[in-house]
Amino acid sequence: MTRPPEGATGAADRFRDLRAMWRGTRGLCPNCGSGGVFTSLWGVAPVCPNCGVRFERESGAWVGAWVLTYSVALLILIVVSVVLIVNFGLFPGLEWILVGTGAAAVLLSYRPVKGWWLWWMWAAGFVTRDGEDDIEAYPGSGTRDAKKRG
Ligand SMILES: [Zn+2]
Repeated sequence: MTRPPEGATGAADRFRDLRAMWRGTRGLCPNCGSGGVFTSLWGVAPVCPNCGVRFERESGAWVGAWVLTYSVALLILIVVSVVLIVNFGLFPGLEWILVGTGAAAVLLSYRPVKGWWLWWMWAAGFVTRDGEDDIEAYPGSGTRDAKKRG
């Protein structure tokens, strides 16, 4: 894999890095591409075992992933509803099919969405090694002090 040295790319380059996005969605580290991001079906390791970036810096880091997962599930549910109703009309049991579809959509999409969200946090500069200061790469952000725990 030919990638520039870690940390050499700015946020704009990271957001354009679709290979990194795809790596994240597949459950690989968006920073180095190695496995070991997920320690269970949905659980994420605290740091990358290969390159050492910290995946979860804030306790609420995955709220966005949940919001996205529900959005994805809602889209799937709308598509399934439209297809079923257009083809078969309203029929008894439709509600249970939709309940099952919604639950399955959430369960199946959470992991790839969480991986995608990890890529997004990496691209935004939130996924770094401990002690690594990206403040020069994102001038004007000035949020680093607010993130320090007291
Ligand atoms: Zn890594």
